[in-house]
Parts: sequence; C-alpha cells; structure tokens
Amino acid sequence: MRALAIYAHPDDSEVASAGTLAAWARAGCEVTVISAARGEKGAGGSGRMLAKRRASEARAAAELIGVARWECLGLDDGEVENTRELRSQLVEVIRRFAPEVVVSSDPTAVFFGSSYVNHRDHREIGWAVLDAVSPAAGSSSYFPEAGPPHRVGELWLSGTLEPNHWFDIAATIDVKVAALACHGSQLIDVIDGISEVSGADSLVAEVVRSRAAADGVAGGMALAESYRRLMPA
Ligand SMILES: [Zn+2]
Repeated sequence: MRALAIYAHPDDSEVASAGTLAAWARAGCEVTVISAARGEKGAGGSGRMLAKRRASEARAAAELIGVARWECLGLDDGEVENTRELRSQLVEVIRRFAPEVVVSSDPTAVFFGSSYVNHRDHREIGWAVLDAVSPAAGSSSYFPEAGPPHRVGELWLSGTLEPNHWFDIAATIDVKVAALACHGSQLIDVIDGISEVSGADSLVAEVVRSRAAADGVAGGMALAESYRRLMPA
C-alpha cells in the first residue's frame, strides 16, 4: 500500500529502483521518495542553482514514475552523516508515511569492482536508514516527539554486493529510462560531449537496459533491479 524510498541524492532512487517504484505505483501503491541532500556538488555546475535544477529534475522524474510525493531534507551534498538529528528526521518521515516497505542504499557496499568507490553519502544514508527503521521508528522509546511508532515490514537495499531478491522491471524499463533522462544535469558526465538532443536519450536507454540485463542474470529475469531484502524483527 505504501512504500518509502530514502536516498542521498536527487537521482539515486531513479538509478537504483525506478523500475520497482514505477511497478508499485502502477499497482496502486502510494510511493514517497526522499532525497537527503540537495545534490549541489553533482555534475553540471554547483551551488544553489544546481540544487534548484536538480530538485525540478527529480520532481519531473517522480511524476513519470507515479511517485505520490518527493521531498528533500535539504542536507549539504557530500556532508550526509548518520547523526542523531538525521535519524530523528528519518524516524519522523517513516512514522508520518507509515510505509510497509522502505527502500534505500546498502551501506555495506564500499567498492564495486576495481573502479568504483561507493559515495560516502550513499553509505551514510544507508546506515541512518537502517538505524531509523530498526529499532527506532517502531519503538516509542526512541524520538517520542516524532509521532506514533511505526514498524516497517521490509527493507529493500539497492546498490548491494549481496543481493537476495530480484524485481522484474521488464514492464517498467521504459519508465526508468525516461525518468533517468529527466536528470539532464547529471548526464553531462555520462554523455561526454554527445549533444543532449541527438544522442543522450538513446545512450541512457542503452546503459539502463544493459545494467538491468546484467542484474537480471542472477535472478533469472531478462531485466531486473536487485536488492538485499530484509524483514527486520
Ligand atoms: Zn548519489
């Protein structure tokens, strides 16, 4: 009925789980997406102008996916920390939206292959979400000022090195491609000189499809998003 995706940056939920969220939204699930940071250190500029552009890109993507609401916690990009204050904000959000499922980043993933170091913000938000979900949100002993306790049934962690669950996104891959294409400011690195009008969209489609196909191999699906799925006690 209700799903809450909490990520560090304005495009992270699209990269990780747009196919899953779109499928849930189509099935009538109320999907909320939270970006912890404003994304002002991303590609395509810096500072307030970029943060503003990225918020509007994220809102456009959210609309395509069928997300009911998109919110930004307004943290500084690159400065996300698993602090008491962040956990209290997350607990408030979890209790307010009362989701059955929370989707976020697997904080234990540090290296992907030999060329990619997982962004510190992705790890920090992942730890903060874990701590907020279990035990804090479900216990009145934690942050009593943040609303009545709510127990989250499932935690789906993307960007994981230890997936145990695959979600078939064949029916929503086109939505994922279109949602990622909304993040024009961040495509500058990806397209590297290819004009946004002529080649970017097909390149995004190619990258998204090949990653989904690679994810699908272990899950026995043509196109998938993979997760470490937990059911916190
Ligand atoms: Zn990110």
